[in-house]
Amino acid sequence: SQVLPKPDRTRVITISNQKGGVGKTTTAVNIAAALARTGSRVLVVDLDPQGNASTALGVEHQPGTASVYDALVNDASLEEVVQQTTEHDNLQCVPATIDLAGAEIELVSLVAREQRLQRALQAFLGSVDDHYDYVFIDCPPSLGLLTINAFVAASEVLIPIQCEYYALEGLSQLLRNIELIERHLNPALRVSTILLTMYDSRTNLAQQVAQDVRDHFPTQVLSTIIPRSVRVSEAPSYGQSVIAYDYSSTGSLSYREAAAEMAVRGAPVIERAN
Ligand code: ADP
Ligand code: MG
Repeated sequence: SQVLPKPDRTRVITISNQKGGVGKTTTAVNIAAALARTGSRVLVVDLDPQGNASTALGVEHQPGTASVYDALVNDASLEEVVQQTTEHDNLQCVPATIDLAGAEIELVSLVAREQRLQRALQAFLGSVDDHYDYVFIDCPPSLGLLTINAFVAASEVLIPIQCEYYALEGLSQLLRNIELIERHLNPALRVSTILLTMYDSRTNLAQQVAQDVRDHFPTQVLSTIIPRSVRVSEAPSYGQSVIAYDYSSTGSLSYREAAAEMAVRGAPVIERAN
């Protein structure tokens, strides 16, 4: 496979959109798998109580399994909860179990409730022998404390947008929240990447939505668009990325291209105020 540039520092990328079903998890798993195959070391942190990323990567996550919940609420280290995937040697996953559903409430009364994931992740990245190139955090479809923890732990946000009528609705709320996080909790946070997902080129509407999103976010939108494809939706039930499941399918090709684009673009440059 293609040789891609590796980042100098670990890129921690939160995949967020408070809408459900827009392709957050699918994007997290498939871009992570694509980058792992090109030789990057990649960690996926599943931060959704539904545990869909854990399922898609074939890691254990039945209730009671050591998971991201223990790191957030019980001060476990990520080292204690991380699992190797069968997807690729370079790809590990911190699973989420349904226990995480309670964390949204339990976190409220904890010290440094917005920084719990950041602290756990920094400690982990500093302790592991092998340097990670990428960390992807798969968020739940809400803007609660779990998502805030993801924004605080990350340096970049990737927003998947489904090419449908309501695509831009709710986006301004998401961007306002990110701006608040940037101002008060994480000045380094940037929306680096927008990915158009589940695109159906046969409809004028999808084309119109894609154009609208490009007009609004000319620098962030990747030129690669992810088409709607049955192979993409089948892969998770085999505990595989679409790349492992059907390497030459259009879904696999487009996720590999999107990953390559992100690697070539690199991390956003942060202008520092003196
Ligand atoms: P989210 O994490 O934002 O809730 P998912 O990634 O779980 O969204 O995607 C929602 C559903 O759409 C899933 O069933 C998934 O398999 C399916 N899906 C995602 N992307 C595609 C695609 N490109 N083509 C077909 N189905 C897709
Ligand atoms: Mg999801």
